[in-house]
Amino acid sequence: MATTRDNRTLRILSNAAAGKYGVLAAVTYNIEQLTALVRAAEAKRSPLIIQLFPSTLKQLPTLAHAAAAAVKNATVPISLHIDHAQNVDHIREIIATLPVDSVMVDMSHYDEAENLEKTKILAKECHAKGIAVEAESGRIEGGEDGIADTGDLEALYTSPQDVSNFLAANIDILAPSIGNIHGDYGPSGPAPNQLDFARLASINEQIQKTDNRVLIALHGTNDFPPEIMKQCISSGAIKLNVNKLLLKVWNEYVRDNAKTTPFVRLIDEGMEVLQKETERWMDICESSGKA
Ligand SMILES: [Zn+2]
Repeated sequence: MATTRDNRTLRILSNAAAGKYGVLAAVTYNIEQLTALVRAAEAKRSPLIIQLFPSTLKQLPTLAHAAAAAVKNATVPISLHIDHAQNVDHIREIIATLPVDSVMVDMSHYDEAENLEKTKILAKECHAKGIAVEAESGRIEGGEDGIADTGDLEALYTSPQDVSNFLAANIDILAPSIGNIHGDYGPSGPAPNQLDFARLASINEQIQKTDNRVLIALHGTNDFPPEIMKQCISSGAIKLNVNKLLLKVWNEYVRDNAKTTPFVRLIDEGMEVLQKETERWMDICESSGKA
């Protein structure tokens, strides 16, 4: 039976927890972005987690294998993570067929009891293959319009009981809900007091008191200013899920230059822009030089 003792994702995150820095867990949609992210990690001597969405696995079936090759050949610690896997059958197919290091088993669309039950079963199946498991407690709201009414959302925030429940489900990485949202906060980032840093810190404290050293992932980082990211890290977030935060520069570059730039040069320059932006965020998260 495999164990998660030598799991790449967990080793990267445990080292970051011990060293008190954050690690980017960067979503990639294609091989150009993958290449730029890996180049940034090697240039900065930084650990990195590469994230693919389940929909991307279906859209580009070879990309996970390319990412796994990058993980294997990189000169710094990199791992391959599947983000927000919500379909039980697809999760089973992923862990049976793909060389992934960790999976977010996202059962948050079920009611709480079923969420925990399914998470527990799937965690066991993942662990049997040496694959680490992330789960989401509470409900991290989606949508582009931001938070409507924080009063109504209190019940969706991660409580101490939620933390205990998920620890009991034997997960490795917990993604708490502290006012963070999937989607855009707006150009200046989260509103003042939108993120409950005290709750994040107390979740971290609660975890530290147990034998099961679960690591904290932070979702919903679009539009984050550097100081908000730093505050999340100092409050206990280790795995920092980033999507648009990095890819914005790639999207803008390609959009603005596609008409006038030869294709091969467009790819080269787009990768360069994304690499530089990734390096900047590795410095902000203080993972630079840690690999
Ligand atoms: Zn997420």
